[in-house]
Amino acid sequence: MVRAWWPFWNDDPVTALDTKLQDVYDEVLGRNPGEQEFHQAVREVLESLGPVVSKHPEYVDAAVIHRICEPERQIIFRVPWTDDRGNVQLNRGFRVEFNSALGPYKGGLRFHPSVYLGIVKFLGFEQIFKNSLTGMPIGGGKGGSDFDPKGRSDAEVMRFCQSFMTELHRHIGEYTDVPAGDIGVGGREIGYLFGQYKRITNRYESGVLTGKGLSWGGSLVRTEATGYGTVFFVDEILKTSGQSFDGKAVVVSGSGNVAIYAVEKVHQLGGTVVACSDSAGYIVDEDGIDLELLKDVKEVRRARISEYADARPGARYVAGGSVWDVPCDIALPCATQNEIDEAEAVALIKGGAKVVAEGANMPCTPAAVRAFADAGVVFAPGKAANAGGVATSALEMQQNASRDAWSFEHTEERLAEIMRGIHDRCLTTADEYDVPGNYVAGANIAGFIKVADAMIALGVI
Ligand code: NDP
Repeated sequence: MVRAWWPFWNDDPVTALDTKLQDVYDEVLGRNPGEQEFHQAVREVLESLGPVVSKHPEYVDAAVIHRICEPERQIIFRVPWTDDRGNVQLNRGFRVEFNSALGPYKGGLRFHPSVYLGIVKFLGFEQIFKNSLTGMPIGGGKGGSDFDPKGRSDAEVMRFCQSFMTELHRHIGEYTDVPAGDIGVGGREIGYLFGQYKRITNRYESGVLTGKGLSWGGSLVRTEATGYGTVFFVDEILKTSGQSFDGKAVVVSGSGNVAIYAVEKVHQLGGTVVACSDSAGYIVDEDGIDLELLKDVKEVRRARISEYADARPGARYVAGGSVWDVPCDIALPCATQNEIDEAEAVALIKGGAKVVAEGANMPCTPAAVRAFADAGVVFAPGKAANAGGVATSALEMQQNASRDAWSFEHTEERLAEIMRGIHDRCLTTADEYDVPGNYVAGANIAGFIKVADAMIALGVI
């Protein structure tokens, strides 16, 4: 029964979409040529919605599924800036305001050379359902630029951020659109962006950006939230079979914001992270990653992960290669989209992985997800497992609105409670639609229904 709605890909006969959903998908392909990641994200959701359209024809009648696949607004703009040598540089900026049925658009900004409209749209589309799953009043959006902060001085990053915000400011606001960080956008960048917003608008509007510094409107736990939340989600999965992190070997990919705090929480819950990576290679440390050293290398020095192995006796660095070759019980992909394809999935299964949870957005390809399903590996999709980041952003907005600042313990407890809620919502919905234990279907259906009902209530807009 689970197999029938598992997200098999379109080269597989079992995946044939319901004809009404196929029409939607064909339209998405036609309207958005060349945007492969966006097609992938849409298809993955549509494959879960077969039983929903049978049970709720009103969603088809009101063209809700058609509408949800079309962003409400897409903004593309020029970002000129001057580098340290006085040369004028040019990048492209994006903000896709995808769906505001549940609240103001909410979603991060990504600065990475791979960013183009198709990436921003895939991320914005996923964000609609993720934000809905959190139960908080936030719509979905995403943005970014093809700017590469790597190797740039602080002054260059500041000038870029100022130029980016000089255009973006007219499109955002605490009741309109509230960006945050993502790949390449951390506390430093949010600071420069907020500073420029404040300067241009002459408003100290804390609720316009999240991920702010603690002394100027940020929330405790926001930095840790995505990584912590992913681990809380896995803890809930483990509890369903009476297990815990105790004694489990874990592999994490990436060594950025999400990865670092996933490592921290795994260690706090009794597991051992034995490997992590960056885009150049990976490190293996059988004694468990030394978190202080990792933070020093990646957060303070902004260096390559190879420097971790240079400083840590017993650790080894592998240039290139795949971190998924390292045997583990639990895998947490926390780097980027499509980093686990079928070959990496097979390596993980061979290495003994029993649970895979996406800390990153869409790090597993459809072929990888299918391999996990066939092997009985529990798979938790990003829109559920990594929703802790945006949920804590919504908590930051709550604190800003009430001019309040909560303690670390209180905020972390709220985060843990939200992740439990998302976990339970996925399972209850999966049961309700006869796909028990299927986190993918549970997350897609539960996330969709809430937005769809709101869209119907708000009329054809
Ligand atoms: P960071 O920029 O802090 O870290 C990204 C990490 O992934 C780095 O170690 C980076 O290595 C690695 N990486 C990035 N691109 C590639 C690539 N093409 N190939 C291999 N490795 C790569 O980003 P975050 O930790 O914030 O984000 C990671 C993932 O989590 C993304 O998918 C993001 O969308 C998702 N996410 C983030 C949230 C957040 O709150 N930050 C919330 C929800 C999801 P290197 O330094 O070498 O580039």
